Amino acid sequence: MSARIDVVSIFPDYLAPLELSLVGKARQRGIVDIAVHDLRDWTTDRHRTVDDTPFGGGAGMVMRPDVWGDALDEVLQAGPDGGAAPGGRVLLVPTPAGQPFTQRTAEELAGVLADGGQVAIACGRYEGIDSRITEHYAARHDVQVREVSIGDYVLNGGEVAALVVIEAVVRLLPGVLGNAASVIEESHGTDGLLEHPSYTQPPTWRDLEVPEILRSGDHGRIARWRRERAVERTAQVRPDLLATHPVTVRAARRGDAEVLAELAAATFRLACPPDMSEEDMAAYVQEHLTLERFRGYLKDGRRWLLVAEVVGAVVGYTMSIMGEPTDPEIAAAVPTRPTAELSKFYVRAALHRSGAASALMEATLAMARERGLPGIWLGVNGQNERARRFYGKHGFERVGGRTFTVGSRRESDDVMYRTL
Ligand code: SAM
Repeated sequence: MSARIDVVSIFPDYLAPLELSLVGKARQRGIVDIAVHDLRDWTTDRHRTVDDTPFGGGAGMVMRPDVWGDALDEVLQAGPDGGAAPGGRVLLVPTPAGQPFTQRTAEELAGVLADGGQVAIACGRYEGIDSRITEHYAARHDVQVREVSIGDYVLNGGEVAALVVIEAVVRLLPGVLGNAASVIEESHGTDGLLEHPSYTQPPTWRDLEVPEILRSGDHGRIARWRRERAVERTAQVRPDLLATHPVTVRAARRGDAEVLAELAAATFRLACPPDMSEEDMAAYVQEHLTLERFRGYLKDGRRWLLVAEVVGAVVGYTMSIMGEPTDPEIAAAVPTRPTAELSKFYVRAALHRSGAASALMEATLAMARERGLPGIWLGVNGQNERARRFYGKHGFERVGGRTFTVGSRRESDDVMYRTL
């Protein structure tokens, strides 16, 4: 069964790149048959006219339905396998007023072609094609009409859109790409994420190093790192793509110690005052947020650690500690007993608007209630306005203050308390 693509345009030369690269090779190897037609071959007048003025007035010209109709009738009749087109026929009309063309559309069209179907692309020019063309073919039971836009901007004609569609679709046909896995692992793949960053030789270029983990040879860690970066990048660049993925919160397990230590080191600075030195931050991380420390935290029955995950990547965590506050200032400020400290609450910066923080907070408070606590407290840096607002929104109120040391500095915190 052969796959067949037809393109109709008044500028067939515009489609010359279809001879090149992977699409050109796929044609040579007989994976796809692509024919480009000149719309003017179906005109009947001396001037080979394809357009006329719009009914109702207005700027620009509109392409005539009679010329397009004759062209499309013939093109759609020919099709693959002697005109049978077992995979069905799609009339694809590029237009900025169409449905967004996405990877899912490309997959659907590749499916039609892989089954021996036909995709005919009608490239408009001027103000587009008379609307009766889509109406007419949509009414035909053997043709599926799809009006697609390749983005929210206006081009002069459909040829560039046709090239975009063909390139995106043909690379999905079996046998076109050397390594079929590269299609699955890419941006807009099955998990709906953007791809992680990629690196090649040399390991150091203009003082920029390839992340150490990618040279570790540890495939498990590499896969985890890539997923985390993919989630982070998607959250930064295309939060709309993440919105369809739920945030899940679960109790941290012993095996999470490494993930937690890495996450803690990466997020600790988010809660630090802006003028804190790198050395002081590093000293704190070295002392409290190492792998060994987290192994200990996870074994300690007085602590409960929760992690938030998005598409399988841990993006945030909380750690709470049961017990009487050791600091007398805090002991005096916290009004109820028994109590616990919400000691750590961190979410990767890129995911601050993803809902992960609220989901973590709800689950943390639910765990505190399950333990029968009447209230829970936390310390938040006096300068960390964003965090104080977040805790305030979740029912915490300031009940006092405390001072403590980070590296070589004295810091002051607000003590906030929430009744459960
Ligand atoms: N009058 C049309 C409108 O406002 O929706 C715009 C017509 S445009 C100038 C001419 C042709 O370019 C269209 O018929 C279509 O084939 C193509 N085109 C322009 N922008 C496009 C886009 N974003 N996606 C797909 N095709 C586009």
